[in-house]
Amino acid sequence: MAKHYRPTKPTDPRVLTAQLVRRTGVSPNLVRVTLGGPGLEHFTPLGYDQWFRMFLPREGQDQLRLPSRTSGLWYAQYLTTPKSARPLVRNYTVRAFRAAGESGGPELDIDFVLHDEHAGPAGTWAAEAPIGSEVGILDQGLSFDPAHGAEHVVIVADESGLPAALGVLASLPRDARVEAFIEIPGVEDEQPIELGERMRVHWLPRADAHAKPGELALETLRAAALPSGRGYAFVVGEQSLPVGARRHLVNEAGWDKSDVTFVGYWRQGAAYMG
Ligand SMILES: Cc1cc2nc3c(=O)[nH]c(=O)nc-3n(C[C@H](O)[C@H](O)[C@H](O)COP(=O)(O)OP(=O)(O)OC[C@H]3O[C@@H](n4cnc5c(N)ncnc54)[C@H](O)[C@@H]3O)c2cc1C
Repeated sequence: MAKHYRPTKPTDPRVLTAQLVRRTGVSPNLVRVTLGGPGLEHFTPLGYDQWFRMFLPREGQDQLRLPSRTSGLWYAQYLTTPKSARPLVRNYTVRAFRAAGESGGPELDIDFVLHDEHAGPAGTWAAEAPIGSEVGILDQGLSFDPAHGAEHVVIVADESGLPAALGVLASLPRDARVEAFIEIPGVEDEQPIELGERMRVHWLPRADAHAKPGELALETLRAAALPSGRGYAFVVGEQSLPVGARRHLVNEAGWDKSDVTFVGYWRQGAAYMG
């Protein structure tokens, strides 16, 4: 058992440029965007829930303005730059990476949730940007702790965490014991995945299209009989889901705080920074 959780961080963080090479429909509420270009030759895939900052041109900017600082310093630079001169920034998960893809060079897939009702700039970019559009990406490594060493893993996610949940399931050793609770807008948003014998995925399609994402996953977790033995939980999605799940696991189920990684991926009614 790892004594101290240390997120896995990239060893050589730098802002890379990439171009939109393809857009593929995955399911009614998810679109896959494939990035390519020589900039990705410097990208190191780590599997699991590997995520990155994605920099996009802001409305009215005719070219992409990228931070010149990397590691944690990009953010200070970002904040001190006037808004009109900053790029937009959002966070996304590596759905897949191929060193040599269909385009001949490296390719990185991202699965975007299409949230039409309150479409934000990143969702709109994913749905509409012309092929060839340029973005910047800054690898942030993993939030999941592969070295935790628990006897079993519990994954809880809404659709924004679906790419992370599937990445973790695909990266864990095949004999890992896993219960995954994945909430999706509808049954057609399920995705095929190869599972080890002791891995179970509970797909949770929302019955009510107006229900808040994450509520069903949280309710299901609260009612679930989890395996015995020391577990490690990874909970991501709309802010109330990770917060509520951690509270349940720690306060009601008696888990140690250090056995729960929880990350708010978005917040209902609030745009991500600037
Ligand atoms: C580590 C990490 C990894 C992530 N990976 C992914 C990923 O692989 N795929 C993915 O789709 N998202 C992912 N997200 C979530 C994504 O960053 C946010 O959903 C982001 O806010 C979308 O930006 P936007 O410009 O479309 O909307 P914003 O401008 O941020 O928000 C505009 C409006 O849309 C609403 N909104 C934002 N996201 C959603 C949503 N998912 N469903 C419904 N309404 C929403 C907001 O509440 C707001 O009202 C990840 C987040 C984190 C922190």
